[in-house]
Amino acid sequence: MSDLAPPHIRSRVDLIQYGRALDCVHCGLCLPACPTYDLFAREGTGPRGRVYLMRGLAEGEIRPAPTVLRDLDLCLVCRACEPVCPSGVRFGEMMEFCRAHILEPARPPGRGLRLRRFVARHLFNRPRLLHALAVLLLLYDRLGLRRLLCSYGVLEYFSPELALRDSFLPRIPRWSERRRLPRRTAARGATRGRVALLEGCVAPLLLGRVNHATARVLAEQGFEVLVPRRRTCCGALSAHFGQLGAARAAARRTIAAFQALGPIDAVLSNSAGCGAMMKDYGRLLEEAEGASAAEVRAAHGFAARVRDVTEFLADQGIRPVPGRVEARVAYAAACHLAHAQRVTAAPLELLRAVPGLELVPLERADRCCGAGGLYNALHPRESLALLEAHVEDLRRSGADTLATANPGCLLQWRAGVERAGLAVEVCHPVELLDRAARVAGR
Ligand code: SF4
Ligand code: SF4
Repeated sequence: MSDLAPPHIRSRVDLIQYGRALDCVHCGLCLPACPTYDLFAREGTGPRGRVYLMRGLAEGEIRPAPTVLRDLDLCLVCRACEPVCPSGVRFGEMMEFCRAHILEPARPPGRGLRLRRFVARHLFNRPRLLHALAVLLLLYDRLGLRRLLCSYGVLEYFSPELALRDSFLPRIPRWSERRRLPRRTAARGATRGRVALLEGCVAPLLLGRVNHATARVLAEQGFEVLVPRRRTCCGALSAHFGQLGAARAAARRTIAAFQALGPIDAVLSNSAGCGAMMKDYGRLLEEAEGASAAEVRAAHGFAARVRDVTEFLADQGIRPVPGRVEARVAYAAACHLAHAQRVTAAPLELLRAVPGLELVPLERADRCCGAGGLYNALHPRESLALLEAHVEDLRRSGADTLATANPGCLLQWRAGVERAGLAVEVCHPVELLDRAARVAGR
């Protein structure tokens, strides 16, 4: 370790992250892009202030007081501050590190913390446990308990925060939408290649329709689609909770599951958060203690083949879409697609390829909707404040459909639309391509 390193720097990775803080030249160009700076209007809740706090904590110049930790914790990790930063500050990586090494160790001990760590380390990698939770949620909804507690204001009476969290709980779709994807879907017509698709951990339970539409669209576009036998979690939610060990274990499992499929042209994801995570596996394992050179090489090789499904189809050239969809569609960019993966034009290109579809502009379309991983569960009030402003923009747009390419955003927008009583369908862009093909009888 360098003699010049500040006292709180103890490892090579600490030093890398500290170096990233030094990249900031305090210009403030990132401030207008930051949703939490907009909401709270305090320096500590914007990117520049947070970089300053992280640097001060590393140097021992700032104490980890509750107000400091809260300002850091309120970050959505939407990464909207990255593309606008002239110094190339890698804010997402810094916040990931900060959550793991500063925020998590500082949380007060107790049952809440144990539950939080169990969720972050184990829940998303246990399909059976996730399934059992989905069944409980389904019963809570279908037996009328949810309506009872909400309509009589019982939850609100005991805890307004709990009532708010409840309003963000997703609806569990019917069984037919929770089927797993077939392990192989044949290409339609002349084959253009062979791809592998990530099903995800929560998506098969909550958004199976999107997964099935993705596989059908890829097949319609001429790609054979393979799905790993074992359903894996990409590790993004574990990283979001500051559990980097669990995130790395998930990365290793995911790489192994896809390697078992044999030669493929690309690894595809229809989830912006999962795609961003998988594209970052090389760096994630490079920073792991004890990772072998071969493992790091394999992780970089895997990451280089990861594409968002919209990015992949736009790169390959979209075959003419059969059928029509008469809809006025507003597109909301998912943060981890637009800011983390820098994929901005491809989803719009896909939507423009659908005959009959009219794209309508949406104000602040690239601003975080407040989903932010599990931000709506951890900070429900702040999440709702962000969401409500967007739903108002959506109302003004006159759209009857909102398209967005990330599971968390889909669920968040659905909750917002339902709260506001808007007659707007919320769906993934590929679902509209799929619908057009189905209208054409495919
Ligand atoms: S734009 Fe970049 S360099 Fe400028 S204040 Fe923000 S993080 Fe620092
Ligand atoms: S990641 Fe998003 S919320 Fe966090 S500082 Fe950057 S722009 Fe603001």
